[in-house]
Amino acid sequence: MGMTTKEYMELSEEYVLHTYNRFPLVLEKGEGTYLYDVEGNAYMDFASGIGVFALGYSNKEFGEALKAQVDKVIHTSNLYYNVPLGTAAEHLAKSCGMSKVFFTNSGTEAIEGAIKAARKYAYLRDNSTDHEIIAMNSSFHGRSLGALSVTGNEHYQEPFRPLIGGVRFAEFNNIDSVKAQLTDKTCAIIMETVQGEGGIYPADPAFLKEVREICNARDILLILDEIQCGMGRTGTMFAWQQYGVQPDIMTSAKALGCGIPVGAFVLNEKVAKASLVPGDHGTTYGGNPLACAAVNAVFEQFEKLDLLSHVKDVAAYLEEKLDELAAKHDCIKERRGKGLMQGLELTGKPVGEVITAAREKGLLVISAEHNVLRMLPPLIITKEDVDKAISIIDSSL
Ligand SMILES: *Cc1c(COP(=O)(O)O)cnc(C)c1O
Repeated sequence: MGMTTKEYMELSEEYVLHTYNRFPLVLEKGEGTYLYDVEGNAYMDFASGIGVFALGYSNKEFGEALKAQVDKVIHTSNLYYNVPLGTAAEHLAKSCGMSKVFFTNSGTEAIEGAIKAARKYAYLRDNSTDHEIIAMNSSFHGRSLGALSVTGNEHYQEPFRPLIGGVRFAEFNNIDSVKAQLTDKTCAIIMETVQGEGGIYPADPAFLKEVREICNARDILLILDEIQCGMGRTGTMFAWQQYGVQPDIMTSAKALGCGIPVGAFVLNEKVAKASLVPGDHGTTYGGNPLACAAVNAVFEQFEKLDLLSHVKDVAAYLEEKLDELAAKHDCIKERRGKGLMQGLELTGKPVGEVITAAREKGLLVISAEHNVLRMLPPLIITKEDVDKAISIIDSSL
């Protein structure tokens, strides 16, 4: 209470393990598309907590649904049924046309579960224990050891070896590279539908289609990681829904609970019928009543606010404005993205400096890879918000 920015920062640095170089601001509250620091400065948030706060910061019904659940019960464990659980799973399963949901507490845990389900499926098929997974270079799937093992980033992986075995890496959007990694032991191919941390690279439609065909022909499971690009961010509930292919296993998190820690892996009928059974997987918190109340409230708000149509509309405007910026500034090499997941690849201009300049002018944006300015605004942003953000980015460049 009543500490200065400097004091909050010093206290945190004294006791919190230093695994992040945090931006020097202490956030206190949020409203709509704005965050406020302890000094009362307002920041328009074009990062939404790394693609989490899809609904913006002051959705009243979302907050009230959480408060109501807090007053009833927050946690019961998975040894019992709870009231919001079934509806939350139904919402998620129906939104992707898949069969069964397992709720986790994070994205990385959703990836762990997806890997286990894929391995178990292959194990039940042929009883062998040396199955392989093909993952993509420059991917990101999380920081736990299993998820890190399929994350195509040598810098993240090296200090923590040995990782889980049987992972081969292929080049994203290069089908020959995937074919070169196929063996009789391949049980799954995992990728983000739109690579996020790796620099905002959407999958090529032809690539994803061919991967799906390879998977069909060899009974390999396709795992699509929709943790960052899913939940409406690209204009459909999940990005793969624009590609005419379906995953066998999908992971979700980030905006799924809009700030309440919840993730999920979702299995299609084929995998659900022949993989994880009681005793194979578990979690103490996963799918607890508070998390499921959040998921239900998120899906209700998506419907009520007609967010998918809104995203399509406002994203088209954002893309147009970003393309204008790209035409104007030589330091923008390329705009990439889908919907409200956009990146500007910079050249000859350090992205960190642009982020700092934007923050000083009241706009929060983040980076991806080392040279991409990344935007993941709340899905509720308006065209006026876009205009304001574009003008700040313009002057920051
Ligand atoms: C953020 C992210 C993860 C990891 O999620 P956590 O909740 O941080 O564990 C996995 N995959 C993708 C694509 C992500 O963006």
